Amino acid sequence: MKYDYLIVGAGLFGAVFAREMTDAGKRCLVIDKRPHIAGNVYTKEEHGIQVHKYGAHIFHTSDRRVWDYVQRFASFNNFINAPIAIYKDELYNLPFNMNTFSRLWGVRTPREAEEIIRRQREESGITEPKNLEEQAISLVGRDVYEKLIKGYTQKQWGRECRDLPSFIIKRLPVRYTYNNNYFNDAFQGIPVGGYTRMVERMLQGIPVETGIAYRDFLARNEALAEPDTFDTVLYTGPVDEYFDFRLGTLEYRSLRFEEEYLPDCGNFQGNAAVNYTESEVPYTRIIEHKHFEFGAGEGTVITREYPAAWKPGDEPYYPINDDRNTALYEEYRKLTEKESGVLFGGRLGSYRYYDMDKVIAAALTLADGRR
Ligand code: FAD
Ligand code: UDP
Repeated sequence: MKYDYLIVGAGLFGAVFAREMTDAGKRCLVIDKRPHIAGNVYTKEEHGIQVHKYGAHIFHTSDRRVWDYVQRFASFNNFINAPIAIYKDELYNLPFNMNTFSRLWGVRTPREAEEIIRRQREESGITEPKNLEEQAISLVGRDVYEKLIKGYTQKQWGRECRDLPSFIIKRLPVRYTYNNNYFNDAFQGIPVGGYTRMVERMLQGIPVETGIAYRDFLARNEALAEPDTFDTVLYTGPVDEYFDFRLGTLEYRSLRFEEEYLPDCGNFQGNAAVNYTESEVPYTRIIEHKHFEFGAGEGTVITREYPAAWKPGDEPYYPINDDRNTALYEEYRKLTEKESGVLFGGRLGSYRYYDMDKVIAAALTLADGRR
């Protein structure tokens, strides 16, 4: 068989690109080394609940094109992410907003909260934040930093906040309103019936083979009497692995998920996401999956998320964008430009922390240029 594209990775990037190229009349084959499609957004129905198997995924975007695009494959509910933070025996709303400040200091007005944060910033003497700790204190003051940021961040990244770049904390909104919406985006929700069904629809009519890694696929194909041919490869796996780690290994932070079914508990924590921000609790958060779909019924499924050190062979989750890894990725990127007949994309192929909407937008842009 002669194909236009071999697409390595059945995650969102691969699935969107496969859909677009197929609709443009190209012949595509999609493979994935995992035993399922959908990559990290994979959901599986367990006890009538859609379980997010690789961590909580909330779809949010301000990109109208992406929002309209995903509606073709799923209907989205009106879930709004509003996590709770627990620090020792205290409970706070996230992101950092007037509910948080009111609970912390007993204040009511934005002015009172601003005044406390301004004073704490001044006391710290920070003018130009040089790392995550300084950035956090200048944004929300020392109290919020000590209770809601320090322990969580050190667990998440396995490093002191002083040794982390400040941009990580800038992902979170800080608001002087009573608004617990974790995101500032115009559109937000969870695909009804799960992400896997959405990706299944994207891949409708396209041949997909799961449970086979790129190298093994190529070896098996070569051994055929009449091998399949592919004009172009789209590779969405780790870029350093593609090049046999010849320049060195790009580092990641990993995660371990501990899932539990509680048959006698209908509602474990009353919210989809509860963060545990003190360093003494070994996990960063507990997800209760049924709340993503406002689920009723008996029993519930919860997942504790434990940050973990990463070594080659482990599941890569978060790229470590420090100086070493950024420079190393840049060297790999130069190699990708010289690799003819191969395109690279997605969060692993471009070594970036990419939200789902950004991944979809990037896949659409790549497809736009190839019709
Ligand atoms: P992936 O989903 O990783 O797909 C790549 C696929 O390639 C994988 O299935 C992999 O098995 C396969 N593959 C790799 N190497 C090979 C190989 N050699 N041969 C064959 N197959 C291979 N984004 C949001 O917008 N909202 C959220 O709430 C959110 N939460 C997140 C929570 C966590 C814990 C994490 C880690 C990420 C979260 N994200 C979230 C980001 C989101 O997961 C990504 O944007 C998205 O999954 C990236 O899609 P992708 O196709 O680039 O990569
Ligand atoms: N963060 C924190 N306390 C929290 C939640 C988040 O300090 O309760 C910090 C932490 O450093 C984290 C960053 O904010 O890495 C970004 O949080 P986000 O929820 O975006 O993390 P992700 O969804 O990427 O895991």
